[in-house]
Amino acid sequence: MRRSAAIIAVLIMLLTVSSCANSEKTAEFFAMDTYMSVKAYGGGDAVDEAEALVFELERKLSITDGLSEISAVNEAGSAQVSQETAELVASALGLCELSGGALDISVYPVTRAWGFTAGEYRVPQEAELEKLLRLVDYTKVKVSGDTVSLGEGMLIDLGAVAKGYAGDRVTELLRSHGVKSAIINLGGNVQCLGRKPDGSRWKIGVQDPAGSGYVGVIEAEDEAVITSGGYERFFVEDGKTYWHIIDPSDGRPADSGLISVTVVGKSGLACDGLSTALFVMGKEKAAGLWRENGGFEAAFVTENGDIIITEGLSGRFTTSGGRKVSEVIRRDEN
Ligand code: AMP
Ligand code: MG
Repeated sequence: MRRSAAIIAVLIMLLTVSSCANSEKTAEFFAMDTYMSVKAYGGGDAVDEAEALVFELERKLSITDGLSEISAVNEAGSAQVSQETAELVASALGLCELSGGALDISVYPVTRAWGFTAGEYRVPQEAELEKLLRLVDYTKVKVSGDTVSLGEGMLIDLGAVAKGYAGDRVTELLRSHGVKSAIINLGGNVQCLGRKPDGSRWKIGVQDPAGSGYVGVIEAEDEAVITSGGYERFFVEDGKTYWHIIDPSDGRPADSGLISVTVVGKSGLACDGLSTALFVMGKEKAAGLWRENGGFEAAFVTENGDIIITEGLSGRFTTSGGRKVSEVIRRDEN
């Protein structure tokens, strides 16, 4: 009797453990100005902790929250911040440099003038843009220990990298709770942990920037798949569309011929910074940056509707709706 009771107890325990390992839990919330979801298999309350972590990061990094660390830097021109924020600013500056200034976290005075921060859209005059562009120069943003300081009148915004970074932190947190399978969607920035519970790779849709639905699907595993698109935030005035990704060289919405850029790689932070940067740079310069630097792959959609991918995505990017890949960028071409 005692032996069979013990066997039953062990069986119940095993069943509980295996159902815990596969139990799915999702947190859905609105943070960093977008809808987010964290779905994890196993890990108990880890998704709740993940949600709290995203809000904590938002409180540190937001430019619209007057009490954030970034607001403190912007208000005083120099402020002591947490080690985490200092390190994030330093990493973002590295991406600004890598992109030759196509990504510039100090472009904020310009994006603000276009009304993208407050949602009060307007087209600034040329003279206003010229004046504001004098304040844009990431090389004048300094990180020394935990202090971030800016040149006179400058302002910074980590909006181009914050969601990717948050995705990295969430992935790390879930992993530390023993989660082996999760999908994190931070406003179209997707990060996946492991594979799907059935062992297949995650299939991540690349939104059609010119309509509804998807232009294709990328298979991914333990990676970030991050898209920057003109369609994400824009306004139309006198029949012209103005979007939120600004070319720091002229202070105007980037007009590089691309309407969306998806970057795939291990680091959400790098993929996020790069997706914004490559959008500004346009296909040719983006291809050059990709050839010179390993560690990521990219898919581009041009304003003509062409789909262009880097060769590492061949075999794991499937187009949808009868579309075809127009070009594969290869490493050994020039
Ligand atoms: P993302 O959606 O990651 O491409 O980031 C776009 C956001 O980054 C915008 O909403 C702005 O807040 C900011 N931004 C726009 N243009 C740039 C730029 N060239 N460099 C850095 N940040 C930018
Ligand atoms: Mg970005």
